[in-house]
Amino acid sequence: MKRYGAFISEESKALLTNVRNFVDKEILPVRVQLDESREACEEVIDKLVKMGMQRYGLAPKYGGVQIGSAVEYVAVCEELARGDSGIATEMTCPEWLFGPAMRARNKVVLENLMSPFCSDERHTACFALTEPAGGCNGEDPTQRGMALKTIARLDGDEWVINGSKRWPGGAGIAEVYGVLCTTDPSLGEEGVALIYVPNGVPGLSFGKPENKMGMRYSDINADVYLDNVRVPKEYRLAGPGQDWKLFRAALSWGRLSSAGFAIGNAQAVLEIVIDYTANRFYKGKAVREHTLQAAMIADMAIAIESARAYYLSVASMFDRKEFGDPGEPYLMGKASGAKVYACDVAEMVCNRAMELMGAYGYTKEYHVEKYLRDFKIIQIWEGGGQLGRLEAAMGYYPIP
Ligand SMILES: Cc1cc2nc3c(=O)[nH]c(=O)nc-3n(C[C@H](O)[C@H](O)[C@H](O)COP(=O)(O)OP(=O)(O)OC[C@H]3O[C@@H](n4cnc5c(N)ncnc54)[C@H](O)[C@@H]3O)c2cc1C
Repeated sequence: MKRYGAFISEESKALLTNVRNFVDKEILPVRVQLDESREACEEVIDKLVKMGMQRYGLAPKYGGVQIGSAVEYVAVCEELARGDSGIATEMTCPEWLFGPAMRARNKVVLENLMSPFCSDERHTACFALTEPAGGCNGEDPTQRGMALKTIARLDGDEWVINGSKRWPGGAGIAEVYGVLCTTDPSLGEEGVALIYVPNGVPGLSFGKPENKMGMRYSDINADVYLDNVRVPKEYRLAGPGQDWKLFRAALSWGRLSSAGFAIGNAQAVLEIVIDYTANRFYKGKAVREHTLQAAMIADMAIAIESARAYYLSVASMFDRKEFGDPGEPYLMGKASGAKVYACDVAEMVCNRAMELMGAYGYTKEYHVEKYLRDFKIIQIWEGGGQLGRLEAAMGYYPIP
C-alpha cells in the first residue's frame, strides 16, 4: 500500500489490501463481461456484499462498519474503481445516501430504511438529485435550491411529493431513494428538503434504463417519477436549512470520492500501459524503454501521483474539525478542485495510453477504452468540471 504513502494507518492498510486482492482476483478478469450484462455485475456485487462492503460506512449501531477515516474511504473508492467504477459507485452509494441521515441522527430513517443495508444480502440505494431541466441546477450553491422543480408539501403527518428526476444511479432497482426537492422554491435553502422514499410506494415509477457509453450495466440510470408520492413526515432528513447544509456536505463527500474513482481508472490504465509497452518493440527495444515513450509514461505517473496526493490531502482535512464542515465553501472548494483535477488527469492518461498502445489501446481486449468510457461520466456528474471550478473559486471568495 505504498501508493497512499504516510496518509494511511496500519488498520486501513489491511482493508485496502483486501479490496485490492478482491479487485485483482474477481473484477479485473471479468471487465469485458461487466460491460455486457447486469448479471455479471450482480455476481461481483454479491461477492463484495458478502465481504462486508455494503456495510462499510453505515452506522455500527445498526450493523454497519465504521469508516476508519476519510482518507481510508477515498482510497477504498480508488481501489474499487481500479476494477470498475460503476461497481464502486453502487457499493458506496448506501454510505452516500444514508450519510446525511447518520449525521442528522434521523433514527426513523436509519431504523426503517438503512438497517436492511447492514446485511449480507444485496440492497441498492439511489440518490436522486438531477432533474430533467438540468443536473447542475440543484447542486449550484448560487441557485440555493430555487431552481428545483420537485415539490414536497406537508399534508398532516405525511409529505406529498410531485416531480421527476433524471439519471440517478440505481433508479428502478433501488429499495430506497433520497429525493432532493423543495417545499417552496422561493424560500431558497430554507425550502430545500431531502426526503427518503422507499420503493413500492404508490405514485413512484421509473423510466427505461438509459443506453450509455460507459458503466453500461454496473450503474443503472433511469427517470424517476413522483406522482403524489406519500411518505411519513419523519422521512424528511432534518428540517428547513439543515437539509441544505447536510445535502451540501453529501455533495462534497461525493466530489471527494469521485476524485478517488477517477484516479482508480487512471491507475488501472497506467498499469495496462506499463505491461503492454514492455512486450511491444520497435527498433529492437521495448516501447517503454525508448526515452520518448518513457517520458510520456513518466508524465502519466506524475499526474496520477499529484492528483492522488491532492485528494488525500483534502481527505485528511475532512478528518479534522479545524477545517470546518465538508459542505462549507472551504472544503467544498477543495473537494471540487480535487475532483476536477483528478478527472483532467484521468482524461490525459486515457488519451496518452491509446497513443502509446496504438490500435491495441482502442480494442476491448486491453480495456483502456472501457476506462475512458467509464471515467468520462465521473467528470460530468455532480456538476461537471464547470460547476466544480466555480466551487473551487468559491473556496477563495464568495460568488453571488
Ligand atoms: C452514469 C450516470 C450516473 C449518474 N448518477 C447520478 C446519480 O446517482 N444521482 C443523480 O442525481 N444524478 C446522476 N447523474 C446525473 C449527473 O449528475 C448530471 O448529468 C450532471 O450533474 C450534469 O447535469 P446535466 O446532464 O443536466 O447537465 P446540465 O446541468 O444541463 O449542464 C450542461 C452544461 O452546462 C454547465 N452548467 C449548467 N449549470 C451550470 C452552473 N450552474 N454553473 C456552471 N456550469 C453549469 C455544465 O457544467 C455543462 O457543461 C448521473 C448521470 C450519468 C450519466
